[in-house]
Amino acid sequence: MREISRRQWLAGISAATIAGPLAGFGQSPAQDPSKAQPLPLKDYEPRSMLHVAETRVERSRFPVIDFHTHLSFVNRSARPEKAGFRAKREDVLAVMDRKNIRMMVNLTGGYGAALEETIAYWQKPAPDRFAVFTEPWFNRLREPQYPQFQADQITRARQLGARGIKVLKTLGLFLREEISSGPLVKVDDRRFDPMWEAAGGAGLPVAIHTSDPEAFFLPTDKFNERYEELSAHPDWSFHGRDYPSNRELHEARLRVVARHPRTHFVLLHVGNAEDLGWVSEWLDKYPNTSVEIGARIGELGRQPRLARRFFDRYQDRILFGTDAVPEGVETPQQIFGEKLYEIYYRFLETEDEYFDYAPAPIPPQGRWRIYGLGLPETILRKVYFDNAARLLKL
Ligand SMILES: [Zn+2]
Repeated sequence: MREISRRQWLAGISAATIAGPLAGFGQSPAQDPSKAQPLPLKDYEPRSMLHVAETRVERSRFPVIDFHTHLSFVNRSARPEKAGFRAKREDVLAVMDRKNIRMMVNLTGGYGAALEETIAYWQKPAPDRFAVFTEPWFNRLREPQYPQFQADQITRARQLGARGIKVLKTLGLFLREEISSGPLVKVDDRRFDPMWEAAGGAGLPVAIHTSDPEAFFLPTDKFNERYEELSAHPDWSFHGRDYPSNRELHEARLRVVARHPRTHFVLLHVGNAEDLGWVSEWLDKYPNTSVEIGARIGELGRQPRLARRFFDRYQDRILFGTDAVPEGVETPQQIFGEKLYEIYYRFLETEDEYFDYAPAPIPPQGRWRIYGLGLPETILRKVYFDNAARLLKL
């Protein structure tokens, strides 16, 4: 707290007495509130006056597998599809060495020729540092042989060296019967059943992102806790139109999980980070699931007591991930770099209070701050490394 001198304090009391019994609480008696300058929300950058511990964690206490990164993408306008790389391998390796990251999983490895290029650039020269996942060939959905074709592509991807499958939230929210038009394709559409089965048969984990924060399904209005984020990215809103609800999307994914017990599903972004009670029910009911924490420490860290119990109970089923992307400025909570990892390590390892979950002047995923979990070493080892190593068969 800032020191207030006794004289200022007494002056404050007498001013309050003159101005009325409530002056001094919530408004300064010296200022006429009707003349106060309006302050646009975007310009408001309050600084915390708390004097609390600030621990810098430069390296994780144990080696890390970052299970959720995007080092590459598929350039869909090229024929055949080409891979695009967002960074140079040696630049990424330098950050990994400094931050104690043993391995990064590049989820968006794509398919076809792009997948081959991605594996050749990232994984082949450094197989103990990079693992590449493949993705479904969604734009072939309309072909009559698609279900079997897609299953065969999983087998082929494994032969090429792919270590798992990534399914973006595209499934459920963007992919339509005519690819970009027509009704939305459901997450549990039967045409994907051979693919889920092939994944299990090949021993490849499925990393699946379904739905989005609950606030994205509500109107972008004064009650929306992610108003600024949705205002800056109106296309992130799934309110109205023909979008299913958040609940319907998750229930469809759970039906897929239930139908394919031999396939392991990693539910990205903690599955549904605002409702750990519901996610706990999923984990209890379906042993073929794990969760990953990427881009959700803002959610976990604002419910630190519940999150701490969640980590205790599911310590063998939680994977470290960041959703890191090595370029761009739009989503500071995901920009690959040393700062990002230091925040994650601080959140997991320390009991620091009320700190930023992203390296940005304004918290980008909602205006709040987070509290560290101070996990014990046994749990840290599992979350940082062991749980992912088991799935990747390291
Ligand atoms: Zn991601």
